[in-house]
Amino acid sequence: MLTKTITLTQFLIEERRRFPQASGAFNSLVLGVALACKALSRKVAYGALIGLHGAVGEINVQGEAQQKLDVLANETFLHCLQWGGDLRGMLSEEMEDPWICEDTGGDYLLAFDPLDGSSNIDVNVSVGSIFSLIRAPAERKRATPADFLRPGSEQVAAGYAIYGPTTMFVLTVGRGVFGFTLDPEIGEFLLTHPNMTIPAQTREFAINASNSRFWEPPIRRYVEEALAGSKGPREKDFNMRWIASLVAEAHRILTRGGVFMYPRDTKDPTKPGRLRLLYECNPIGMLVEQAGGRASTGSGPVLQVKPEAPHQRIGFVFGSREEVERIERYHAEGPVPSEEDTPLFNVMSGLFRRGA
Ligand code: MN
Ligand code: MN
Repeated sequence: MLTKTITLTQFLIEERRRFPQASGAFNSLVLGVALACKALSRKVAYGALIGLHGAVGEINVQGEAQQKLDVLANETFLHCLQWGGDLRGMLSEEMEDPWICEDTGGDYLLAFDPLDGSSNIDVNVSVGSIFSLIRAPAERKRATPADFLRPGSEQVAAGYAIYGPTTMFVLTVGRGVFGFTLDPEIGEFLLTHPNMTIPAQTREFAINASNSRFWEPPIRRYVEEALAGSKGPREKDFNMRWIASLVAEAHRILTRGGVFMYPRDTKDPTKPGRLRLLYECNPIGMLVEQAGGRASTGSGPVLQVKPEAPHQRIGFVFGSREEVERIERYHAEGPVPSEEDTPLFNVMSGLFRRGA
């Protein structure tokens, strides 16, 4: 089996051959992340057997109840990555201030969500880890939190691990998206999903509908049109999915298409969106774009956003290209004209009523 299969290490070496000027630091970093994910995969699998379920009783920097596995996952990432000398700093969802390396020899900065979807741990639904790698500033100085505030278009690598029925590591180094499955017998990630691509169209969307009263009008319009199904303006029936775990949603969309929306809403004026730009939206956004999909704030490309704070939240819409472009178009078009001034709408809604 091994003779036919490419390991993550082999894949990275092959990639590096295309860039003879590249140092080994990049590969060793990606392998460091993969090592942390392998370690976590084992811990997650033991769950309640080793007392890892449940909350710590602390509220993290995000104002969320920290789970025991959140803390362990963060420590695992730090432990696997801080000794190599290739990183000048690490930004984590679980730490208010980034970890900064005293040695300024490292060329990279890493941002990560050590355990995504951690509220799903106790119910045994897939969780994951997400990471984003950018270059550190050329000047050899101690990193600062501001150094992490680079647009997602500058990422040199991004990926996630998903701890589901199988553990997978999904990676982009800027030349497509590749999925590796952990072979538990040999402890290696093996390439099983080369060139993952997202179909341009879909009949599947994912959104937390309990927030619908807080949605912006363009999102409301998009969802209402999808719900109207084959008799509505979209002239096709849609399915809805909602796992409430970003990694699991992203993995489904990278596997079979779809559109995911966690739009900016009016629920809490202090939170312009739910998901974090630097270690959730940007890495997932890079993967999605590398797979031929589109990643957006709802109104424009998420990878072009200039970050303002390390733990910044933002609206996030991603998936099948044509659907995300449609949502952006609805934002650009502004409010839908009211019934009175659109004769066409009257005709259409008459049709709906007859159809219903
Ligand atoms: Mn998360
Ligand atoms: Mn998390």
